[in-house]
Amino acid sequence: MILETQNLTKTYQFGSSTITVIKNVNLEIENGTFVSIVGPSGSGKTTLLNLIGLLSHPTSGKIFFKGEDTSQLSERERRKFRLSNIGFVFQTFNLIPTLTAQENVELPMAFARVKPDTQRERAKDLLQLVGLTHRTCHRPKQLSAGEMQRVAIVRALANDPSLIIADEPTGELDTQTGLNIINLLLNLCKTQGKTIVIATHDEKIKKIADVVYESYARSFVRTTVQNR
Ligand code: ADP
Ligand code: MG
Repeated sequence: MILETQNLTKTYQFGSSTITVIKNVNLEIENGTFVSIVGPSGSGKTTLLNLIGLLSHPTSGKIFFKGEDTSQLSERERRKFRLSNIGFVFQTFNLIPTLTAQENVELPMAFARVKPDTQRERAKDLLQLVGLTHRTCHRPKQLSAGEMQRVAIVRALANDPSLIIADEPTGELDTQTGLNIINLLLNLCKTQGKTIVIATHDEKIKKIADVVYESYARSFVRTTVQNR
């Protein structure tokens, strides 16, 4: 098991009232599986991904990563842990506009203090992996949406994390481009053993996932398990 949550709950205080966004979420995510988190807009998908990605703190409940209780980590340890264990992919790509594709992919490695030569080599290899060798020196504005998302995906892979968290990664893409991105993520799961957790509305992603957690009563419940 790579990731497990126990009664994960997030509430926000709004004046005198408390808003419960997600309540008692119990995920069990096996290593190397493709997991989709499904639910209507506002059901707490992003909130849940931010929690399991250690970007925010739960109001109550726990997150175990490879059996380790992450609530025991200091802020500094969390940041370090995130950098080497978790890659993020967003709906709107979130590339740095002033950096080239190559530099965007190098950035997480720079944060992790990887040697500059290694950064360059690895970023080149990763961009080649997604067919973007001819786009290494281009800035996000000069790339198509699909190309930007491919850059974002290999940026997420830069420090070779075991878990990739993707928040509606096909939301801004046309059908065919979205399909290519799904296949790329699926391929990372199958050939590199990455664990992929995707929040999505996309029925196609739901169909190919090993496990689907569907929004229900402010929580997410496991609805299907298929053996690939
Ligand atoms: P989804 O990704 O499924 O669309 P979100 O996790 O973005 O859902 O949001 C779930 C709910 O939590 C929404 O009703 C949203 O308004 C609320 N919410 C999210 N972040 C905050 C915040 N920082 N303060 C107050 N409410 C928030
Ligand atoms: Mg969202």
